[in-house]
Amino acid sequence: MKETFREKAQALHVFFLDILFPVACLECGKQEEWLCGNCLSKIKTVDEQLCPLCERAITPDGRICFACKKRSPLDGLLVCASYKEKTVSRAVHNFKYRFISDLSVPLGKIMTKKILSSSLPLPDFLLPVPLHSRRLRWRGFNQAELLAGIISKNLTPGMEIPIPQNVLVRRKYTSSQMKIKNLQQRKRNIENAFLVRDPRSIKGKTIFLIDDVATTGATLFECAKTLKTKGAREVFAIVIARQEMKVRDQ
Ligand SMILES: [Zn+2]
Ligand SMILES: [Zn+2]
Repeated sequence: MKETFREKAQALHVFFLDILFPVACLECGKQEEWLCGNCLSKIKTVDEQLCPLCERAITPDGRICFACKKRSPLDGLLVCASYKEKTVSRAVHNFKYRFISDLSVPLGKIMTKKILSSSLPLPDFLLPVPLHSRRLRWRGFNQAELLAGIISKNLTPGMEIPIPQNVLVRRKYTSSQMKIKNLQQRKRNIENAFLVRDPRSIKGKTIFLIDDVATTGATLFECAKTLKTKGAREVFAIVIARQEMKVRDQ
């Protein structure tokens, strides 16, 4: 509980900072936008995509490689930009930890651009990785849901891709994956954390799972497993960037 209090205090601190300092581009300081059009256009999308499971094989659009296919419920992971690019890591950090929800617009646009340049199938719907209701209350917004909203509006102009509510639910309150530095522990932490509320609605469907960043991908694989068990046909995950774990398995 101590930690939650500290995090809350931090959020409040950020809130007051935002009142004192007006909106300005994180990169060039131009006012009125968190990421101006010029700086946004300079962000490169990632060309070379890797199999999300072995992280070795180069595959089109980050599809699962042939060798990993049998043991992966996830059909692919499309990584849109690189965390090594400062503008990207700065924007993601401010979006996630300074709660600047408006950054979902430029970040969602980067994701849309990458999806459009890929050969992935058009999804039947988008599913943001859900937060547990307790964490959602604390954060005030689900960052994945905001990104999904932008992608939904921009992917096929004139026709929004549906984002069904409460289909995929997080039933288990887990400690933050960010705090766990070991892959096996991350997998255990997230195991059986999700639930499909209405299996009929996902049967035979192609689904894009949307999240902000992926580290080991444990959360995305777990969501995909839950969706596939309930009859989804294909599940591709889309994230802004892949973040390296600070301490790899020890
Ligand atoms: Zn700028
Ligand atoms: Zn592989």
